[in-house]
Amino acid sequence: MEDCLFCKFVKNEIKTEKVYEDGDFIIIRDINPQAKNHFLAIPKKHFKYLAEMTADDAATVGRILKKISELKDLLGLDGGYRLVINQGDDAGQTVPHLHVHILSGQKMGWQPA
Ligand code: AMP
Ligand code: ZN
Repeated sequence: MEDCLFCKFVKNEIKTEKVYEDGDFIIIRDINPQAKNHFLAIPKKHFKYLAEMTADDAATVGRILKKISELKDLLGLDGGYRLVINQGDDAGQTVPHLHVHILSGQKMGWQPA
């Protein structure tokens, strides 16, 4: 996807504050943090919706979730954390490349609107 911002992050065509990378995905700091710690886990493969996933993609996302849970110190997960995947307009998805928001480091409310 030539015009996709997150594909450009993955390919290092645009510089970001990358904190982790493996064969499946990168983790960067969100530029507009919504919690004390706010990271984005971005799969290297471009797709927008969970509904588009192949079985291999689903396995990749499963590995990504497991790896996130293991990066406790890096991501500040000790006190608890929240993962968010916005899907489509009603959820406010602004970047059409699937990503997992990782929020941590503070007590959170529950106010989706
Ligand atoms: P979403 O609204 O779920 O599609 O999330 C997109 C996220 O990307 C938002 O939280 C933005 O703050 C974040 N974002 C946009 N541009 C950048 C950037 N250049 N570096 C880091 N995060 C970004
Ligand atoms: Zn992309």
